[in-house]
Amino acid sequence: MLLPVFTLKLRHKINPRMVAVGRYDGTHPCLTAATQAGKVFIHNPHTRSQHFSASKVFQSPLESDVSLLNINQAVSCLTAGVLSPDLGYDALVVGTQTNLLAYDVYNNSDFFYQEATDGANAVVLGTLGDISPPLAIIGGNCALQGFDYEGNDLFWTVTGDNVHSLALCDFDGDGKKELLVGSEDFDIRVFKEDEIIAEMSETEIITSLCPMYGSRFGYSLSNGTVGVYDKAARYWRIKSKNHAMSIHAFDLNSDGVCELITGWSNGKVDARSDRTGEVIFKDNFSSAIAGVVEGDYRMDGHTQLICCSVDGEIRGYLPGNTEIGGNLMDASADQDLIRDLSQKKQNLLLELRNYEENAKVDLNSPLNEADEHGGIIPANTRLHTALSVNLGSETQAAHVELCVSTSNDTIIRAVLIFAEGIFLGESHVVHPSVHNLSNSIRIPVTPPKDVPVDLHLKVYVGYRSSTQFHVFELTRQLPRFSMYALNNPDSATELPSYVNFVIAERAQRVALWLNQNFLLPDDTTIQNAPFKVCFSSLRNGGQLFIKIKLNGEVTINTDDIDLAGDIIQSLASFFAIEELQVEADFPAYFEELKKVLIKVDEYHSVHQKLSADMADNSNLIRSLLVRAEDARLMRDMRTMKNRYMELYDLNKDLLNGYKIRCNNHTELLGNLKAVNQAIQRAGRLRVGKPKNQVIAACRDAIRSNNINILFRIMRVGTASS
Ligand code: CA
Ligand code: CA
Repeated sequence: MLLPVFTLKLRHKINPRMVAVGRYDGTHPCLTAATQAGKVFIHNPHTRSQHFSASKVFQSPLESDVSLLNINQAVSCLTAGVLSPDLGYDALVVGTQTNLLAYDVYNNSDFFYQEATDGANAVVLGTLGDISPPLAIIGGNCALQGFDYEGNDLFWTVTGDNVHSLALCDFDGDGKKELLVGSEDFDIRVFKEDEIIAEMSETEIITSLCPMYGSRFGYSLSNGTVGVYDKAARYWRIKSKNHAMSIHAFDLNSDGVCELITGWSNGKVDARSDRTGEVIFKDNFSSAIAGVVEGDYRMDGHTQLICCSVDGEIRGYLPGNTEIGGNLMDASADQDLIRDLSQKKQNLLLELRNYEENAKVDLNSPLNEADEHGGIIPANTRLHTALSVNLGSETQAAHVELCVSTSNDTIIRAVLIFAEGIFLGESHVVHPSVHNLSNSIRIPVTPPKDVPVDLHLKVYVGYRSSTQFHVFELTRQLPRFSMYALNNPDSATELPSYVNFVIAERAQRVALWLNQNFLLPDDTTIQNAPFKVCFSSLRNGGQLFIKIKLNGEVTINTDDIDLAGDIIQSLASFFAIEELQVEADFPAYFEELKKVLIKVDEYHSVHQKLSADMADNSNLIRSLLVRAEDARLMRDMRTMKNRYMELYDLNKDLLNGYKIRCNNHTELLGNLKAVNQAIQRAGRLRVGKPKNQVIAACRDAIRSNNINILFRIMRVGTASS
């Protein structure tokens, strides 16, 4: 059994996910964490730290090993690491909702202090792609931004939603690192510099990501799931009723491969095999885990796994030596395992007995004897599944219909469906009442998003009197655009919104793409180019036209800019298109965006005015205080009282002003998010280089406040005419 090699109890609360170990003098590792009231503490047990006594950092009176850094604002993320390789020591990087500070702890000075208008929910430090200096990369309001040690922003791009987690990992194995971004829209996106090379849809907000080795990385979701991906494929995952607060890769059993270490909200820490998810070690803290990091904290040449709880309890573990073997758990855990295994054995024995019973029935009675089957179904029983669009009725909304049927008079007792993101809790059970049992069953399915989903089915087939059922297991894929019904194109009205582009593909191949990505009725025939198909959304009735001309010119009409982007990305991956320039117009959406941009301007000027007012009032306070104090010294109590009354009123005004400023800032953030999303959407209408050009040009247009250019770029994909 593995025991901690050191434990500490610090008198500071620790904010979840804001823990790091930094060697700020190049030698001594210091545990660093964000704590309450906008402060960061640095625990340095190795040297008496005289140089920590200057303005920004002060020694805690309670603990001589702890220094406090005052950020004066709620900290939203924190990390430490090499920002300037020439210096040979680590920088401390602290993000808030408005700024990013890169701090030189050793010299008590700033590397840089930059405004981060999109906020910093997550931060990661390291090299990205071909950008040579290490970057402090932050993710915020739909935006990603990377700064070098001088505060130059060498990397900026937009992403689908608010960022919650970041990691650097060599995803494609070319020796250079990609940026993994987990966001509020449940997606993990992989950025090769500013190009998205993979997107994985999860079922909840991605709260943490950590590189493991090679192209393998760990992730955690806000619903208590943790797991491991290798490239775009998920290796394993488990779901707990607790929340994963922090994940970290560490080789705890010294077999040369990192385990996924998870710190949980109930104070548990566990280490799971990267390959199977099997628990090889666990320990318990008395409060929720805030962070899991590593460092040579005893300075003896051995790296420890360091776990911290929100109450400031710290434990360090040395990896077990190889003789212990793979599993580091104590005897009680072994007993757990034995109990699990004997339960499995019991279940298997029961199953075996059932098979034996069935075999007896099989031998003693002729086949197909009415109602005396004992659970045996004819050997030639086949199961059919079909997916189709159901336009719904007055009592039922339009949906996708999954029809499951058997090929004879057997009945379907129940259907179990496992699918991610469609049903609450990922699974769905359908079991008709005894009177409604038949050999076919229709199940409505309503995917909320346009992503392909695997439906894993378990179908229980038998007879009405059966007590045991044959279980068919199969998987059907729900096409990406299954929530769109094919219409008669002549009956529909034309839309003003469109995207237009040329692809070098024959119409038949486009028809093949249609067949694979939509649920077309069986009798659909798509003639040669030019052709035109029309769909309507089962969710909101919105229309979608896809037209292709003889010369390969494709026009897509829809008011839904996200749908247009999804279709273009789907076509691009189907036909392996590397670059695609697109002309687009979404008049209604662009009109809304114009209003948002005007609001952003307003909020900016209100912000400036409020900041100026606040500075004026601060000066006024200072002079009122001095005058009140003068009056007191002169024993002029009346004047003093008046001054303090004025001070009281001014204070009230300031507090009100502060509230207005906060509201203004919240509104500003909401609108900036809409702007970043618009840039991201304009990008998603293009593929490859044109996409990156659109995103970069949109940002330049917004920086130079040139709205006309911005809309030109979104329409034609370039700033020049
Ligand atoms: Ca790479
Ligand atoms: Ca290991």
